[in-house]
Amino acid sequence: MIDVDDMLQRTKIVATLGPASTDECVLSDMILAGVNVVRINCSHGTHEQYAKWVRSVRHLSEKHHLIVAVLADLQGPKIRIARFKTGSIMLREGELFTLDPDMDDDSGHEHAVGVDYKELASDVETGDILLLNDGLIRLRVLSVEENHIHTEVLIGGELSNNKGINRLGGGLTAPALTDKDREDLAFMLKQGVDYVAVSFPRDANDMTTARDLLGKDHQHVGLIAKIERKEAMDHLDDIIKASDGIMVARGDLGVEIGEAQVPLAQRHMISRARKLDKPVIIATQMMESMVHQCVPTRAEVSDVATAVLDNADAVMLSAETATGQYPVEAVRAMANTAKAVEKNPESHQSSHRVNSQFGRTDEAIAMATMYAANHLSLEGIVTLSETGKTPLWMSRIRTAIPIYALSRHRLTLAKMALYRGVYPVYFDPTKVERNAVNREAIDCVVKAGYLKEGDCVILTKGDHMGIGGGSNALKILTVGQVE
Ligand code: PGA
Ligand code: MN
Repeated sequence: MIDVDDMLQRTKIVATLGPASTDECVLSDMILAGVNVVRINCSHGTHEQYAKWVRSVRHLSEKHHLIVAVLADLQGPKIRIARFKTGSIMLREGELFTLDPDMDDDSGHEHAVGVDYKELASDVETGDILLLNDGLIRLRVLSVEENHIHTEVLIGGELSNNKGINRLGGGLTAPALTDKDREDLAFMLKQGVDYVAVSFPRDANDMTTARDLLGKDHQHVGLIAKIERKEAMDHLDDIIKASDGIMVARGDLGVEIGEAQVPLAQRHMISRARKLDKPVIIATQMMESMVHQCVPTRAEVSDVATAVLDNADAVMLSAETATGQYPVEAVRAMANTAKAVEKNPESHQSSHRVNSQFGRTDEAIAMATMYAANHLSLEGIVTLSETGKTPLWMSRIRTAIPIYALSRHRLTLAKMALYRGVYPVYFDPTKVERNAVNREAIDCVVKAGYLKEGDCVILTKGDHMGIGGGSNALKILTVGQVE
């Protein structure tokens, strides 16, 4: 039975797996604490490990009767330094340091290190600022000689093996999908993942390339564009249109555009994604101190609250659940924050699209449902969906009323787990008598523990069951009194 209090959490939680959450008991507790989407970060780990994680998530979601989606996050062309003979070095302000793609990968020292992107030298010019280790170390380019980039250390510190390199202002040209990404993608699709995140896309073309790679068998797998390059901000609407959702990847984005620019960029991205009817995830450092502490800072709680108040679909945990000491507590802290902040009355009413024309019948049904629901006292919306499109439209409208989205397709159910305020429930309308569909559908939501006798609901469906895009009816019904 689902705790009614839990139903109030509309903002979804994405949690990254790693050594801290590999134990099935920990993963189980994380799911029970509110994780809706599990993220497998293909920058770390092995295929064998990923396959095991996908199996664990499937097993646990079946055991707990909860729908949990799996998101495979491709590494992308993160440009990295190679390795040092000693594992790490100390860089001091004013010293000279050379990035040399021709150097042997393990032979880095105090004055030079290798680079894994051999064309880096053609992307940088004298005067450029290079940021290493998420911006903790800053280098200014003094000169570029053939392949060698000579720099001066502006901000020093410890630099260890394989740390990332960004250029302030963006402009590094490495294509979004590397050979490793293509291999990882093929493998993860075989494991049956529900979403794939593309790292560092520059424009809509990078997303189209990824879509082509999904192939015929997996073309409905959700594609998430991680917005973490300056160029991606310049092509935001086109990228959103070419994707099934976006992730505000604040880590790399903050390095490229400067961290002070991130909050407004975040707000802008949430607003554009919602306007274009796509879900949006806010990622990176949301509960960072919980890597080592069991209670979040007030500033972190406020950060999660801002995402919730701005109507993001989901908030994400990275190191907190992958390598942190308190993975379950971090999920709980996020869920509690979301639930508390969602009480804000402004999150319950919407004037979004009241003046717009609708292009399709199912879209009009979705909008009419939300308008009616927000102006009536109702316990829930029950929507029968093949593709998830109707629940997605509904979830763009602010409301306090839960949207129970019923589908017979495993992938549709999983994808809907990311949508704000949408609760997926398995139901196959093609398996029941035509004139019993309303009653059976509502019964199914009652059995899942979400509704009870006497509750008032709006139900939407199409005349022809089992056909996508066919929603053409809405009905207001009382649970227990449905024919
Ligand atoms: P990453 O992406 O964790 O894969 O780097 C998220 C970010 O850059 O914020
Ligand atoms: Mn990143």
